[in-house]
Amino acid sequence: MSDAFASSCRNLKFNTDVTKIDLKNRSVLFRDSNSKSSGKIYFDTLVSSMPLKELVLKVIKNVPAGVRKAAEGLKYNSVLNVNLGVNRRNISDKHWIYFPEDKYVFYRAGFLMNFSDELAPDGASSIYTEIAYKPDAYKPIAYKPGDRKKVLTNRQKLLRSVIRDLKKAGILRDRDKLLTTEILDVEYAYVIYDRNYDKNVGIIKDYLLKNGVYVIGRYGRWEYSAMEDAILEGKDAANAVSCLTRN
Ligand SMILES: Cc1cc2nc3c(=O)[nH]c(=O)nc-3n(C[C@H](O)[C@H](O)[C@H](O)COP(=O)(O)OP(=O)(O)OC[C@H]3O[C@@H](n4cnc5c(N)ncnc54)[C@H](O)[C@@H]3O)c2cc1C
Repeated sequence: MSDAFASSCRNLKFNTDVTKIDLKNRSVLFRDSNSKSSGKIYFDTLVSSMPLKELVLKVIKNVPAGVRKAAEGLKYNSVLNVNLGVNRRNISDKHWIYFPEDKYVFYRAGFLMNFSDELAPDGASSIYTEIAYKPDAYKPIAYKPGDRKKVLTNRQKLLRSVIRDLKKAGILRDRDKLLTTEILDVEYAYVIYDRNYDKNVGIIKDYLLKNGVYVIGRYGRWEYSAMEDAILEGKDAANAVSCLTRN
């Protein structure tokens, strides 16, 4: 689907990080993550999908103190995704299952091969599990650069807990073999709607809009939404920007 959208876009740049935005002269500084080269472009209107908190606290230059404070107040939860490939077909007929009980390390497990046959080889199954954590508290696996041994030990510990609990839930069997494993750390996973949410998000969006920046998507708008919303928001932003450009 993303390929279908991309076919009607021009000047796409991949693997390129936006590192600084200057709202005064409406410029964006970016760095190519492969070649490490950098560049600058100027904009009339900017559409941003990067996490709102990062945009304000790390990327935009000279943000007013009140807007910075609002961004510091944005709360979120993080998620570790533990993905497994298993050498048994049809390990489950479900799409996903919630596990609210404390006895499971994950709160949800899902089976990607039931979304599409393309998502697991013949005779195999794919499982994803999700483990939530608070970003400012205990992290189930350590990420200390250079401390490879510790990272590996903790990753192994996390994997062992997930496998143990999948067996407890009757999903994995003792004889199953893991064909592949992957752990992903999703820092901004779920936005928390606390009592300051409306005020903080309102202050930030007003400031951005006054400076020609539209925010879209789950992390860009700092909201709870799903994939289809991200697509619709992209469409709305494209319409809004093309109206501005025409007028
Ligand atoms: C744990 C979890 C489970 C979920 N489960 C479901 C589900 O079951 N069903 C469902 O519909 N949705 C689900 N979602 C939500 C779905 O993944 C999101 O709604 C969707 O991916 C949001 O799309 P997006 O385009 O807003 O954000 P993203 O897909 O995150 O896109 C943002 C883009 O901005 C880019 N970006 C960020 N910073 C920079 C920078 N500095 N420079 C350049 N580019 C940058 C990123 O690389 C990325 O490509 C889930 C999300 C999570 C975290």
